[in-house]
Amino acid sequence: MAWGDRFARWAQRFASTDVAQADSSQEIGPAPRRAVDRHRALYTQIGDFLFAHDLDITALNFAFAQDHVSADPATVRAVNAALAQYGCLTNAVVEEIIAERDADKITPETLETMLAKVESHLAEVMEVTEGSRASADDYGTRLKEQVDDMAESPGGSTPAIEKVIALTRTMIETMRAAEARLKASQKDARALQRNLEAARRAAEQDYLTGLPNRRAFEAVLKTRESLAREGGRPLAIAFCDLDHFKAINDSYGHDTGDRVLQFVASLLAQVSHDGCHVARHGGEEFAMLLDATTEEAARIVDEARDDLSARKLVNRDDGARLPPVSFSAGIADVLAYSDGRAALKAADEALYLAKQQGRNRVYIAARPVQGG
Ligand code: GH3
Ligand code: MG
Ligand code: MG
Repeated sequence: MAWGDRFARWAQRFASTDVAQADSSQEIGPAPRRAVDRHRALYTQIGDFLFAHDLDITALNFAFAQDHVSADPATVRAVNAALAQYGCLTNAVVEEIIAERDADKITPETLETMLAKVESHLAEVMEVTEGSRASADDYGTRLKEQVDDMAESPGGSTPAIEKVIALTRTMIETMRAAEARLKASQKDARALQRNLEAARRAAEQDYLTGLPNRRAFEAVLKTRESLAREGGRPLAIAFCDLDHFKAINDSYGHDTGDRVLQFVASLLAQVSHDGCHVARHGGEEFAMLLDATTEEAARIVDEARDDLSARKLVNRDDGARLPPVSFSAGIADVLAYSDGRAALKAADEALYLAKQQGRNRVYIAARPVQGG
């Protein structure tokens, strides 16, 4: 696996530098020594990170700790968010962070194929182990009954029969052991299935806000688009982008920016229901799919915009009042375009116009709905 490889490579690098240091300490001078010292310091920092968070020493956690102590921005950000949310890191939280962080490297198609393949293998294994476990169990029980009968029957005590009985008893024990092994592998397969389910959820959920992520949104868009086309029902797409969000990060720090994103997500999630799907599309952008005409959708999105911009937000760090937070949005009729992607692009263009016209407003495909 990739993490295992990385870990092995890292360990190899560390080991080979160590050897170089042993040779070089007399011959080459202090430069390689500094490299070794750096590696040793990194090694200690990784250890400190793992112990501080009481994480198991696994290849996965080790590589994760290395990313963190090397100040990989995505990892540092995710760890800060996890600490703010849960107060501590656990092995499960680290797995979640990694799944979410690396989710972008997997396309929806490869993920689907990968999961489908593993799941079908697992289902096969489960079926086979269940089948053979049941038959081993059944056969073992019947054999045991037969042997017990033979042992109790009169004249059943000749040496030959005793030998057969002893041999058969050994066979029964072997079968029982095999049955226990089958049971254990079935348990493993079940655990793997549960992990897969968790991985699937993590791959489709935005870690910071808990909303569905872009991958999940694209899948829902595809399904809803074909349903709407088949049923001739309206479907609108909205693309929302926070206004001057960079200024919040710049003035109040990234953590405050993250909390603002979480707040906006919770507010938009309140709009979300069966007929309205809300997702974090990326950075400070949210996408919505509404079973509604563009006019109805614009009204709903504009209400959320109005609600957000009227909120008086306070920075938890120092109690300071934050400037009003708002978003701009563009809306498009999905069915008016060749596919969902084209509709999203049209909504993005409408959003661009809303930004140009002063922000904090909602536009339907280049047509203003309401000023902010
Ligand atoms: P505009 O009104 O034109 O959209 O201005 P803006 O400042 O919102 O736009 P810009 O694209 O310049 O900045 C987006 C910012 O969002 C930059 C980036 O640092 C920030 N951002 C993206 N993702 C996150 C995140 O997960 N957390 C935080 N705190 N900031 C993020
Ligand atoms: Mg943006
Ligand atoms: Mg923005």
